[in-house]
Amino acid sequence: MSGRSSSILLSSSIRGWGKLREASLRRIRPTLAVRDEQVRTFVSKSTKDDHVAGVWSPSAAIDHSPPPPAIAKAEESLKNASLVIFDKDGTLICFHSMWVPWALSTAERIEEASNLKESEIAKEVYRLLGFCPIEKKVRPGLLAEATMGEIRERLVHLLVEHGLESDKAIQVVDECVQDCDTTSSNTLKQIGNLKHMFEELRAHNVKIAVCTADSRRGTLGALRGLGLEQYIDIIVCGDDAGTQPKPSPHNALAICKAMGVEPADAFMVGDTLADMGMGRSAKLGGTIGVLSGVAKEVELSPMADHVVVDVGEALPILLKRRNPAGGAVRLS
Ligand SMILES: [Mg+2]
Repeated sequence: MSGRSSSILLSSSIRGWGKLREASLRRIRPTLAVRDEQVRTFVSKSTKDDHVAGVWSPSAAIDHSPPPPAIAKAEESLKNASLVIFDKDGTLICFHSMWVPWALSTAERIEEASNLKESEIAKEVYRLLGFCPIEKKVRPGLLAEATMGEIRERLVHLLVEHGLESDKAIQVVDECVQDCDTTSSNTLKQIGNLKHMFEELRAHNVKIAVCTADSRRGTLGALRGLGLEQYIDIIVCGDDAGTQPKPSPHNALAICKAMGVEPADAFMVGDTLADMGMGRSAKLGGTIGVLSGVAKEVELSPMADHVVVDVGEALPILLKRRNPAGGAVRLS
């Protein structure tokens, strides 16, 4: 691998599922509820400048005041991104073909292993994940935005709420919630011509990052399966030590620092509000929401600087250059 193509892999130690075995359910952290609150705060307070003490509020992190005209004009001519941070599922890879089979089989296994069929536990699992078994589509929610560790914790909590002892609930989740097969050609489908997009970005000296809630094992399996790993400068996954779930700005800022790029020169491209929230709270140069994943335009547009159909449409925005007459050069 060349120096460029050698992905800078952050520590890949698998986070905490083993520790959960040792923890009582009383100790399951309230962070998931806090994170949900963060997203709600993100939406409800996006146009305000107030801040809720103890709860991350992106509105408090965003400077809404416009720059002076002269500075704005100079910035306009420098809008090429130096770094693009891509979300993975729903942005680069088809979310539904990958995770719908996983959601169906996981709920079926949990129902069987827990003996909670009478409680219609599968429906509760779908509801928790944010999955519609009728439309067979993933909606914005836990499956689209949370790490596998968070999903497992929430499933344990769900089973306990339905009467299982905590040890039994942990055992069921441990047995039934397996990593998604990210390498099967039946489920792994890229969105658009990603090699072309990455080659265009690299040709313009734009660094490429992937920041995902998925596990490192699953992420590398998918990127390698599509022959894309060689294009990516840095990969940050949900189970990497020291990372924080979106919409925290932590991972975006860590990526910028590792790449030697100012946050203002970086763009975030993703399919969820959590992606947009990370980009905004890190004060990146721009956020692009794609409609190829789980969210609709009406959901993304309040928080995205641009909303496009898919990453293919994002490319001209990322490579915006001015010709001598001042018009945008179309890149295709
Ligand atoms: Mg996504």
